[in-house]
Amino acid sequence: FSQLAASVGLSSSTGSGSSPGEGGILAGHYDVCIAGAGLSGAVLAERYASQLGHKVLVVEKRAHIGGNCFDYIDKDTGVRVSQYGAHLFHTYFDDVWDYVQKFGPWTPYEHKVRGIVNGKDVPIPVNIETVNILFDLNIQSQEEMDEWLKKEQIPNDNPQNSEEVALSRVGKRLYELIFKPYTFKQWNKYPVELGPEVLQRIPVRNNWDERYFSDPHQALPTNGYTSLFENMFKSQHITVLTNTDYFQIRDKVSCGKHYFSGPIDAYFAEQKLPKLEYRSLEFERKVEENTQFFQQAFVVNHPQDNDDYTRIVEYKHLYNQSHLPHTVYFIERSKDGGEPYYPVPNKRNKDLFKQYQNLAKKEEKTKNVSFVGRLANYKYFNMDQAINNALELFTKDTGIAYTMSSL
Ligand code: UDP
Repeated sequence: FSQLAASVGLSSSTGSGSSPGEGGILAGHYDVCIAGAGLSGAVLAERYASQLGHKVLVVEKRAHIGGNCFDYIDKDTGVRVSQYGAHLFHTYFDDVWDYVQKFGPWTPYEHKVRGIVNGKDVPIPVNIETVNILFDLNIQSQEEMDEWLKKEQIPNDNPQNSEEVALSRVGKRLYELIFKPYTFKQWNKYPVELGPEVLQRIPVRNNWDERYFSDPHQALPTNGYTSLFENMFKSQHITVLTNTDYFQIRDKVSCGKHYFSGPIDAYFAEQKLPKLEYRSLEFERKVEENTQFFQQAFVVNHPQDNDDYTRIVEYKHLYNQSHLPHTVYFIERSKDGGEPYYPVPNKRNKDLFKQYQNLAKKEEKTKNVSFVGRLANYKYFNMDQAINNALELFTKDTGIAYTMSSL
């Protein structure tokens, strides 16, 4: 990270209690201290520094900035890869789209996913091609597809869980093939055990549209996500401390206001409430020498239970990297424990989160700490929602609204 720090003019350090300690970086007063250098932390740091000229300290436990968006060049193959899984930026929010333009160029990219189902290669989400291939049909129009879907669907105006969502959208046969086994591998829970929001993420199409998302803005940061974060942290008012545990330093540094973007139950670990549940991921890296591509698409899902993994991601499909001589791909499996990636939205966790939220409200009043982001809100935010959440929080706390192209 020191190289990265040097190249973007950040202050950085490795480890709490070492040289930056009492006499160095921690000695000064900061207007704002932020735990976490992911999206939420980056937006808040950038807003406070650029908009208000405030002095900001960002404390990051990992060795790098960017949270789970962090990407880098794989040294054996030269391919740009993401350390924590595929990240596709898409948004309906015009102001979020406008905001991210400030931190580097973007290349339009519409994500398309294939799935291997009953040995056949089909588009996911379900569209006309998916059902024609899987059920040997010859549907040719939206009207025919609507009719076919209507026969399959089990209507439900108010689904209470993800099984009811899937059955009302695609019916039992596609549910059993694509959604039930994948969801079990991903969450170690069946869709009936998860809130409706999990399977509501995946649309169903009555046409030939193969896109994974429908948002008007879909793109990749042309120079990668890490570069975007470097630009967000670029201000001279921002100090980033990596390899540093916020809990170890917070009493040693003077801060006007705190933001915490880590897991909310880690913050309140001493309160003796039960822990919230998180699902984590594991990536098995494979290199293929002298191979243009290993698979036909960037992401290929393996929904059925004949494989123990959920998907395979081959980053070489992005960023015009097809000329590179080798490829690298990652087999993705879910697990409990490890780095927290996904909040698990079921009743137990949602109820428990409310108790943590009450603690958070008190903490906010008494200690001037605000909670922000996916892990602190215990919500399955997409990247744009995380940015939006942080922009809204900045407005709430400062009274300054982000207006488009106001920078
Ligand atoms: N899902 C599924 N089959 C698929 C793809 C997704 O059942 O082929 C379900 C699964 O439960 C997953 C959820 O839909 O957790 C949301 O998928 P998404 O691709 O949005 O997950 P992410 O990329 O955020 O991990």
